[in-house]
Amino acid sequence: MRAVGVDLGGHNIAAALVEDGQILERLAEPTAGRTPEAVTDQIADMVSRLADAMGLPVGVGIPGVLDAEREVSLLLPNFTGWNGLRAREMIAARVGRPVKIENDANCYALGEGWGGAARGLTDYVVLTLGTGIGGGIIIGGRIHRGFHGMGGEPGHIVTGTDEPCGCSSHGHLEAIAGADALERAAREAGLHPDLKELWTRRSEPAATPLWARWLDHLGKGIATITHLLDPQAVVLGGGLSRGAGFLDALRPVVLDYLAPPYRRTLDLRTSSLGGDAPVIGAAALAQTRGEEPR
Ligand SMILES: [Zn+2]
Repeated sequence: MRAVGVDLGGHNIAAALVEDGQILERLAEPTAGRTPEAVTDQIADMVSRLADAMGLPVGVGIPGVLDAEREVSLLLPNFTGWNGLRAREMIAARVGRPVKIENDANCYALGEGWGGAARGLTDYVVLTLGTGIGGGIIIGGRIHRGFHGMGGEPGHIVTGTDEPCGCSSHGHLEAIAGADALERAAREAGLHPDLKELWTRRSEPAATPLWARWLDHLGKGIATITHLLDPQAVVLGGGLSRGAGFLDALRPVVLDYLAPPYRRTLDLRTSSLGGDAPVIGAAALAQTRGEEPR
């Protein structure tokens, strides 16, 4: 099956022709404008330039909160004029083809299922460890959107107490284990906040507490997810998942928090698609009629 995926980001837009989870042709450009008109024009232009994608349906990953029906964009923090907009209809009218829209982190999760680390799985959770912590939940081969469309937000699992979160609540995993929080913690400890370099120095006494706390909160979050959803696998993506030895460091922490019957089921994996996952997942969404691919 072939379809077109688009990944709308605050800095870049990617568009790709995807077949069976593999990218055949791709375009990536800086995001030229923030308004619905500017973004929609750019998406339509990029889609039209994918040579062999004529007439194929389009899926678009949107960096924000959508309504339960995936018609209206409710909150796009880095864009202007999108809140409350009938975004799907507007993009479809401009592109002139069937269009589906989905939260970009959910697209990431679908992408890993179609062509990445979760290929062949029906029940898995993806966590993206970056500036924030995003993710998606796939149950029975479908995105778990929740009744109101807001399900699947592992970054806001409560593992702490009063750490202020970007969502304006507190104690959330992202507020402690997101890259921004880690960099802040590094500065407070008098360390240079280069997380890549700090990870390689994690056995040094100055850096050990920072990473131990990070792994502890991630471990709590993943144990909670495992107890709640009993997934086949938990896939970890994003910049902070790429450090050498990351899974080996994380696994014992998660195991320690798991009830015994869950311990033998734990399957932690790292993302195999990385930055390509959202655009592949958006294409996966486009080529289905109401249901995601299995
Ligand atoms: Zn939060």
